[in-house]
Amino acid sequence: MTTITEQQNRPAGADAAEIEQTAPVVRCGRVIQAGRPMLAFLCQHCERVHFHDPQRLDTGPTPARCHLPSSPYFRTGYFLEETK
Ligand SMILES: [Zn+2]
Repeated sequence: MTTITEQQNRPAGADAAEIEQTAPVVRCGRVIQAGRPMLAFLCQHCERVHFHDPQRLDTGPTPARCHLPSSPYFRTGYFLEETK
């Protein structure tokens, strides 16, 4: 089970103003994972699906779940947007 800590709430490497201006929006679908609703999207950089808690929808940019150090999402994180 994943626990979101205060430390993870803001991506490292960028200040708040830069994050607000540059964090991209990723469009997510809602899925059930291990019995819980989660948001999921296929990351164009990692070519893997990343999962996030739906509670992160309205809380600003979320840290990237990327596996590749080259992913630009690491710097700013990204905003989650749910597709209906
Ligand atoms: Zn990724």
